Amino acid sequence: MYAQQKIVVYPGTFDPVTLGHLDIVERAIPIFDRVIIAVAKDTGGKPTLFSIEERTQMLLEATKNYPKTEVHSFSGLLTEYVKKVGACSIIRGLRAISDFEHEFQMASINKRLNPSIETLFMMTNESYFFLSSSVVKEIAALGGNLQGFVPEWVEKQIKKKLMGE
Ligand code: ADP
Repeated sequence: MYAQQKIVVYPGTFDPVTLGHLDIVERAIPIFDRVIIAVAKDTGGKPTLFSIEERTQMLLEATKNYPKTEVHSFSGLLTEYVKKVGACSIIRGLRAISDFEHEFQMASINKRLNPSIETLFMMTNESYFFLSSSVVKEIAALGGNLQGFVPEWVEKQIKKKLMGE
């Protein structure tokens, strides 16, 4: 019998992608048939350092050797996007307590908008619990070393951007 593919959407701003994001993707790969990384065009008024094209490009580069993984950008309601690509669930990473309230609210709203879509949370790897795109941008702005926080190619893009090249 034809078994339906288990597709998960991993949405986010990814401004820029960090090793914490990639850890979630790597751990989702063995669980699902396809992992769609969905880069949000709409950031709710939150300014981004990188454009949607740049954020998507960095993720494409960072995941080029990963199996079962695709990178796309999306706009509008996440639940509509999830339905459009035929996914059954959304995956989000969960760091310290600070993530919980926002994630709980978003998951509850998305459940209300489409009860057939489940939101799953993957606990952060303890090596990355402190890591966020904002911290990476702050360290970079102060001239710090980003080794162990983002892929090498992404580090180059951040430096280029901050030096205005
Ligand atoms: P958003 O603006 O949608 O929160 P982010 O790019 O900041 O987008 O994060 C995307 C997802 O990745 C979120 O679920 C976030 O909790 C998760 N995430 C970010 N950094 C880490 C990390 N270091 N460890 C685990 N999950 C993370």
